[in-house]
Amino acid sequence: MKNNNILQDSHGRDHTYLRISLTERCNLRCSYCMPADGVPLSPKSHLMSYEEIYDIAKTFVDHGVTKIRLTGGEPLVRKDIPVILEKLATLPVELSMTSNAIIIDKFIDVLKINRIKSINVSLDSLDREKFKHITRRDQFDKVYNNILLLVKEGFQVKINAVLMKGFNDNEIIDFIKATKDLPIAMRFIEFMPFDGNKWDMSKMVSYQDVMEQVNQAFPESQIERLQDAPNDTSKNYKIKGYKGSFAIISSVTNPFCDTCNRLRLTANGQLKNCLFSSTESDLLKTLRSGQPIEPIIQKAVQAKLKVRGGMNTIEKLQEPKLHTKNRSMITIGG
Ligand code: SAM
Ligand code: SF4
Repeated sequence: MKNNNILQDSHGRDHTYLRISLTERCNLRCSYCMPADGVPLSPKSHLMSYEEIYDIAKTFVDHGVTKIRLTGGEPLVRKDIPVILEKLATLPVELSMTSNAIIIDKFIDVLKINRIKSINVSLDSLDREKFKHITRRDQFDKVYNNILLLVKEGFQVKINAVLMKGFNDNEIIDFIKATKDLPIAMRFIEFMPFDGNKWDMSKMVSYQDVMEQVNQAFPESQIERLQDAPNDTSKNYKIKGYKGSFAIISSVTNPFCDTCNRLRLTANGQLKNCLFSSTESDLLKTLRSGQPIEPIIQKAVQAKLKVRGGMNTIEKLQEPKLHTKNRSMITIGG
């Protein structure tokens, strides 16, 4: 770790992974991510410019960040995305992106030139009508074809599906079967509570629910538990002989906070020390005032709570007043 270790928190966790949200806008309207009538958008002048994104990112990299993921909203709707990528690609970090892939076919070369090798794509259903229902947009074909394009173009592709009871939990096995011929990592995400997404524990499909279906659908000898990468948020599996793999991200029933190495920067320049924390630190204001941002970063990292922004039990997670103080997911970035 370079300089003094401002990215280590009081629980000994080193933060080497920064997720940067580039925009609060999106070309989908996923119901688990944002309220139906949208979210109040920050005025453009309150959003980070590409120079400011670079300056803040560089500070984090100088202090030990080795991985940056770009997210949103939908990161590709930002007009200056090619310049942002070009600037960030000059930093010594692994760059990656989470996208809904609707317009990603227009950016294949830009992504390759700027050494993005791994893309996470959201896809919650393999059924066109259900996709339209959950995203409130009729874009299934575009997303599915672009996933195939990304695979063909040699990107490492992870598919994120947020599972909801009675909506897409009957597609878990179909999603896993799609990994037979496609070298993708299918990731099932437990539905998490954020402001405006009408979360309710009874809608959530848990890690255990997924594994019950898997154990019924495949013989034990065919199910292989894979080694999880350090700081991995997912429990990884594979069906023997399949090209791809699958995983479960169980932030609700089985939080992975002990090994958390993530910090989040919102599109309006606020540092969030945890996805679930409602407190934020204004890096953009400090940067614009010409002051160093390191002391603010250090203070925010030190203040990071041990588990899920203080919601250390399922009971606390179920208290609406605790998660409605947080932002909607669309303005955090996942
Ligand atoms: N627009 C891009 C996309 O959809 O991939 C990037 C931003 S999106 C906010 C990032 C990730 O957050 C997506 O994989 C999405 O499924 C996930 N997400 C959003 N709301 C969620 C929730 N309530 N619980 C779990 N995951 C959620
Ligand atoms: Fe947009 Fe992604 Fe949120 Fe869906 S999950 S509304 S695609 S930001």
